[in-house]
Amino acid sequence: MKFGGTSVADADRIKRAARRIVAQREAGNRVVAVLSARGRTTDELIAMAEEVSSHPDRREMDMLLSTGERISCALCAMAINDLGHRAISLTGSQAGIVTDTSHTKARIIDVRAERIREALANDQIVLVAGFQGVSTSRDVTTLGRGGSDTTAVALAAAIDAEVCEIYTDVAGVFTADPRLVPNARKLAFVSFEEMLEMAASGAKVLQLRSVEYARTHGVRMHCRSSFEDGPGTVVLGEDETMEHPLITAVTHSTEEARITLLGVPDRPGAAASIFRALADAGCNVDTIIQNEPRGEGRDAEVSFTIATEDLYAAEQALRPVQAELGIAEIDTDSGIGKVSIVGAGMRSHPGVAAQVFETLAGENINIEMISTSPIKISCVIRSDGVPQAVRALHEAFGLGALEVQRERPIGQEAR
Ligand code: ADP
Ligand code: ASP
Ligand code: MG
Repeated sequence: MKFGGTSVADADRIKRAARRIVAQREAGNRVVAVLSARGRTTDELIAMAEEVSSHPDRREMDMLLSTGERISCALCAMAINDLGHRAISLTGSQAGIVTDTSHTKARIIDVRAERIREALANDQIVLVAGFQGVSTSRDVTTLGRGGSDTTAVALAAAIDAEVCEIYTDVAGVFTADPRLVPNARKLAFVSFEEMLEMAASGAKVLQLRSVEYARTHGVRMHCRSSFEDGPGTVVLGEDETMEHPLITAVTHSTEEARITLLGVPDRPGAAASIFRALADAGCNVDTIIQNEPRGEGRDAEVSFTIATEDLYAAEQALRPVQAELGIAEIDTDSGIGKVSIVGAGMRSHPGVAAQVFETLAGENINIEMISTSPIKISCVIRSDGVPQAVRALHEAFGLGALEVQRERPIGQEAR
């Protein structure tokens, strides 16, 4: 059972989470619970760091950020003990989460869950601080924003749990962020394939890595509300049959920035040097566009998007490449946003892209970059146009409650 930040934000909510955990124990299940930092604690810790340093050292950042989830776990253990059950809280390191050394976005490489297994065998409820681990060089690491989801999935895999329940502040995974689109519909099921695209394009309800990890390790993910009892959303494996809607969801992100390189020499190896430098700096690059120069001896222009939090690291990494290749200018733009539509059904339906572009045109929204996968279309636009674009696309594809278009995948005709 994983509880997100809003679900443990104050004393009452911690007690509520404690009661839910105890109820599972009393129903005869053994429980490992992963908790996030309370409320906006992680944001506040980041702000504290920025008050003392313009670009805080990443190792020290992890020492700082990992404290938030420890607070939640210790408090919840106290509340559970008061309910007459025995609980033990563990840091990520104590829980055996071993990661690589990339501070602030470490990847889990091993889970040594003996201590958890022992505690469970001793009839204890185990509380694990989410979002953190210990690196192969014995430093505390964190797993990137939203990383407690990945802690939960990794532990579920390691102890062979029946299910990994993600308790959050919404009722499940919706056809769009319900905070932006009031008539968004909760999905009863979503496939791993679609959930991966949704998480990658901004639906932060499940962290991308947690979905990847669950798919690789065969963990059943169940996303549900921590405030009410409801069926939530189950992420289905590829082998589990389901109907594929044409379009499943509209997602968005305003936490991306664009870098444009002007005057890039038009020769083999230029793009390779640029993206090698970014990869070595740990920057995840998304949409890439390169314009072919028109005419002999002209230079090319390369644009790409990255997470805003990687902007500084990317600029630093590109300086030496700029000198080496003779790139004229590095231009950055942090005012961009991205809207995407995701749906396994679009693979076999022409005209979806045209409808996306027509919808945005109808709202007078200019599209600055476009990228696609077989089941996703993303458009980069100005960030202030994102809410309007999301609502318009949600409406145009009839995703609101009671207006869903469904189709059956080939080979699964109605029986
Ligand atoms: P937690 O603190 O529980 O981990 P998060 O804030 O990380 O919660 O994720 C839940 C939030 O994700 C919701 O409050 C919602 O605003 C946002 N969200 C974005 N897209 C979606 C979506 N398609 N379905 C559900 N929630 C979404
Ligand atoms: N507390 C961390 C964050 O805010 C991790 C998490 O909540 O999953 O990103
Ligand atoms: Mg989260």
